[in-house]
Amino acid sequence: MPTQVLKPSQIGIAAALLRQGECVAFPTETVYGLGANALDEEAIVKIFIAKGRPEDNPLIIHCHNRSQLTDLVTGWSPQAEILMDTFWPGPLTLVLPKKPAVPDIVTGGLATVALRFPSHPVAINLLQAADLPIAAPSANISGRPSPTSAQHVLEDMSGKIAAIVDGGPTGGGVESTVLDCTVFPFRILRPGGITYEELSPLVPVEMGYEPHSDTPRAPGMKYRHYSPNTRVVLITGSKVEGEIERQVKACQAQGEKVALMAFTESATYPDAYILDMGSKTDVNVAASRIYHLLRQGDTLGFDVIIIEGLPEVGIGRTIMDRLRKASDTIVHT
Ligand code: AMP
Ligand code: MG
Repeated sequence: MPTQVLKPSQIGIAAALLRQGECVAFPTETVYGLGANALDEEAIVKIFIAKGRPEDNPLIIHCHNRSQLTDLVTGWSPQAEILMDTFWPGPLTLVLPKKPAVPDIVTGGLATVALRFPSHPVAINLLQAADLPIAAPSANISGRPSPTSAQHVLEDMSGKIAAIVDGGPTGGGVESTVLDCTVFPFRILRPGGITYEELSPLVPVEMGYEPHSDTPRAPGMKYRHYSPNTRVVLITGSKVEGEIERQVKACQAQGEKVALMAFTESATYPDAYILDMGSKTDVNVAASRIYHLLRQGDTLGFDVIIIEGLPEVGIGRTIMDRLRKASDTIVHT
């Protein structure tokens, strides 16, 4: 099937395709999503096939209007409502008890459903025009880095989906935070665009995932993720600088073509190609770039990407979660 590339002004075509049960990729403020009608099982099957996504990895449903929620969930607490009022529209996904109308294929058979309101204007226009709850995982082949541009989506999805709305590069770059609101204190199942530091002053919240463990809380967190074909080595800990130099030299001595993914301030390292994460003084820039830089490992044909780790606070916690999962080797100094 040829994939139509649509402009934001052609949102009506995209909405009609969604209403006909087709899959359409669209930009959000985090990454590009691959959307389909959440209430149409056959449409949802197409998402799993296009991505090669494991069936037990549930999808997030995207809405634009709070009245849509009453068809999808049995209810929510006043504390959950505070979060909706504060962070919606935005990169926060709330896990709530589901109603039977939500097909099991969307939730991987769970009794809960994950929901969010995106803030990207193209996403909002599409959700309003389709006037449907839209299930949308990231629009990449499962396991690959998430797409932050239409070009990334086409690399993975061309010929497999009906259309993509090209809204340019996304802004935030890392996916939404997944927060389980069926337990109290609430639990962060996946770190994301809204940080622990932003949530914890408003509601009691616990880390529901182990940053360094193999025991996943969100079903999707157990799979290899975010990975280019290029080998990835992540350097963490307190002596990152010296170790980067050692690793770069060791790989070059093996005859490998090395890329160094590092902050601008660190780009003085030995003669490796620099994949620039932006300044250390604003790690939001790194968040917006990491998936593009990981994909560049493949498009530019490197043998190895060596990555400078960063402190695990705020959005740094989310970035490090993604980089750990993308890595073949983690060197802790
Ligand atoms: P993606 O849309 O590819 O960014 O992935 C969505 C993430 O949300 C995955 O890690 C899922 O496992 C997680 N998720 C979706 N629905 C639920 C749910 N009902 N309970 C817990 N985690 C969920
Ligand atoms: Mg994903």
